[in-house]
Amino acid sequence: MEILNLINNKLQAAQSGKWLDDINPANAEVFAKIADSDKADVDLAYEAAAKAYPSWSATPPERRAEILIQIAERISVALDEFALAETTDNGKPLSLSKTVDIPRAIENFKFFAHAITQFSSESHEDIGKQSINFTLRKPIGVVGCISPWNLPLYLFTWKIAPALAAGNCVVAKPSEITPLTAFMLSKIIVESDLPAGVLNIVNGLGPKVGQAIVEHPNIKAISFTGGTATGAQIARTAAPMFKKISLELGGKNPNLIFADCDYEKMLAVTVKSSFRNQGQICLCGSRILVEETIYEQFKKDFIAQVSQLKVGNPLAETTDLGAVVSEAHMQKILTFIDEAKSNTSEYRILYGGNRVYPQNFNKGFYIEPTVIEVNSNACRLNQEEIFGPVVTLMSFKTEAEAIALANDVKYGLSASLWTENLSRSMRIAQQIETGILWVNTWLNRDLRTPFGGMKASGVGREGGLEALRFFTEAKNVCIKY
Ligand code: NAD
Repeated sequence: MEILNLINNKLQAAQSGKWLDDINPANAEVFAKIADSDKADVDLAYEAAAKAYPSWSATPPERRAEILIQIAERISVALDEFALAETTDNGKPLSLSKTVDIPRAIENFKFFAHAITQFSSESHEDIGKQSINFTLRKPIGVVGCISPWNLPLYLFTWKIAPALAAGNCVVAKPSEITPLTAFMLSKIIVESDLPAGVLNIVNGLGPKVGQAIVEHPNIKAISFTGGTATGAQIARTAAPMFKKISLELGGKNPNLIFADCDYEKMLAVTVKSSFRNQGQICLCGSRILVEETIYEQFKKDFIAQVSQLKVGNPLAETTDLGAVVSEAHMQKILTFIDEAKSNTSEYRILYGGNRVYPQNFNKGFYIEPTVIEVNSNACRLNQEEIFGPVVTLMSFKTEAEAIALANDVKYGLSASLWTENLSRSMRIAQQIETGILWVNTWLNRDLRTPFGGMKASGVGREGGLEALRFFTEAKNVCIKY
């Protein structure tokens, strides 16, 4: 299979004729080749987008919404095929692709289709000066959307749907590690009513294609989700060009567990927030901090539940953890685990810690869910994003200590808090340095809410009206009467 670019409504190979391998992490086999594009392909995509812009930006929002809903419905019809493709490319359990990834991609198109028909702006009357100001919200032009491999179609559509709804034309790049569902979307686009050039998808490597999108002088805004180091590189390139940027980056999210929580509910959700998608969700709670009075009990009960998780064939219904996304990523995760194995004064591996070789899939990239007890929050495993099925445990004595530990990290994406004490929830909500706080829940997402991180977890907010604001330029008009 060839994974081609979508440029001006045509599916085409990279102009260089080069290809990359697409590997199924479940069995390490190459199953497709990916267009290995470069600046020349980005330039072509930009030209198509710029040509389409005058007409698309002038298309009434209701018509844009109809087309986005048409795309959503076509993905819905092919949900099973999309889910299988996502699992083949990424290694995640098929059950997750079917119930989370693809349904959310559909929902993203529907949500922003509806949202743009409800989008309004402000007016301010100044009676003293006998004038009225109103804000026009205009699309920006051609924008770039760059997404990662962990939730491939889910995050790709999370960006392109609001960009298109707001009237922009898009040059988009999925991750080179998981481009398959974006290519399937390309085929749907070709047959949809979306005019040629409005959405262009260029495949290939980050430093080539991604960098060319960010460097392009006429691509005016960049919405990026990915690692913090890549985000810094994008900011370095885009800032002197005065581009609008939205950066959704890495996390090292604390999971604060107080003795006054609903224990059974907390335990079940904490297993999920630790290991869902093999721990490769930017919102996973990778630092578990537990109040001292229930620490030993929690440790015992948590490990008992983790030991029930099944690692293996992503297509099997009974699988809880599939493969991690690539061999390189598996090695990176194992390096962190090896550090814990070799430094026993700092770390104690309470469960897991090994690569898994499932029957018939022994070449695939599988790792046991791993629980490591740490002495101090200053250790490398508590400070660096591992982005795999590895969590650390440590205890705290007081609420003040819990907050200090939660905030003592360069990241600030999300946190979970388990307590039945409402006042405590409010105190922690005020003091926690994260863009998102979940109280007695996790990954409970309402698409209308602002989404994004503080500190090294990013700049800007997406989601709901925030995304539509990001993808529009506010122009104030003042009329004296
Ligand atoms: P990554 O930064 O390596 O790659 C992300 C995307 O950027 C890919 O498409 C890649 O090709 C591209 N890219 C790489 N170099 C580039 C460059 N110089 N210029 C432009 N684009 C470039 O990240 P990843 O490994 O694919 O994803 C994992 C990371 O993403 C983790 O750190 C995770 O926390 C983060 N993430 C964050 C969120 C969030 O919402 N905050 C969501 C999901 C994942």
